[in-house]
Amino acid sequence: MIEVYFGAIEAGGTKFICAIGNENGDVLVTKRIATENPKTIAAVVDFFFKHYKLFSLGIGSFGPACVDKESPSYGYITSTPKQGWREFPFVQTMEEALHVPIEFNTDVGGAALGEAVYGAAKGLDSCLYITVGTGIGAGAVVKNSLLQGLSHPEMGHLLVRRHPDDHFEGGCPYHKDCLEGLASGTAIEARWGKKASELTGQKTVWEMEAYYLAQALMQYVLILSPKKIIMGGGVMKQEQLFPLIRRKLQELLAGYVRLPETGEEIENYIVPPLLGNHAGITGALILAKKAAGVK
Ligand code: ADP
Ligand code: ZN
Repeated sequence: MIEVYFGAIEAGGTKFICAIGNENGDVLVTKRIATENPKTIAAVVDFFFKHYKLFSLGIGSFGPACVDKESPSYGYITSTPKQGWREFPFVQTMEEALHVPIEFNTDVGGAALGEAVYGAAKGLDSCLYITVGTGIGAGAVVKNSLLQGLSHPEMGHLLVRRHPDDHFEGGCPYHKDCLEGLASGTAIEARWGKKASELTGQKTVWEMEAYYLAQALMQYVLILSPKKIIMGGGVMKQEQLFPLIRRKLQELLAGYVRLPETGEEIENYIVPPLLGNHAGITGALILAKKAAGVK
């Protein structure tokens, strides 16, 4: 008997993770492929096509991407500054190569879904996942579905109040000093002249980082009221950030949102991903199940 699997792709800015999984959400095999240009796709197709029979495929992709099924651009990576990927018809290309149903969303949407179904927000019908890495992005699950409007949310580019001691102009190519421009790993490195991972002991660095991230979280809490906030990405490996962000968020909310989650239970409210680095790929696997119509 030929075994049939669910296929998953987490397409990130630096690497693609391709995976094969089963309907329990178990990731069985993974392969990393560098995100150089759309030729990467040939290697991705090879991985699936040569070795596995697939029911369906789920894709969590870097963006901006079109996730609106009604749009003629559905399945495209749209206005990315990444060389060679602008206006790339991701879903169409995979469909032509693999002939399976595909469900497509953002990388952070995938991670939010993974954490909602199998991770830190298991059993809850809403959560928000934010990644603080090369850039900043967030996805949200609301009433068990990924939040989507005209397109996917772009919660990494919020406007934030500047820290009085911050003289860095900001690194976002679109807005300069938006959240991503001031608080991504790239911004930290540009401001302090050292990689974020080399700044662990520098109190000022992390106080400033928490000052910005807590402002973003305040806005997420006020607008979406998610039942759990999960913070992942390379920068959040600095564990000292968690207590700083929690305290700062409480300070900003100033007792206005009076809930146990934002009060005495905040340690269980703002948490790292339970699935660790697997949140995104697990989410893509859930998207694959959805594409195949499996609950
Ligand atoms: P990506 O965002 O490209 O998917 P990551 O989530 O790993 O990948 O984010 C990479 C960013 O995180 C880089 O800016 C890097 O400097 C930063 N980073 C990686 N590891 C650490 C660490 N241990 N401490 C602080 N920053 C880190
Ligand atoms: Zn921006």
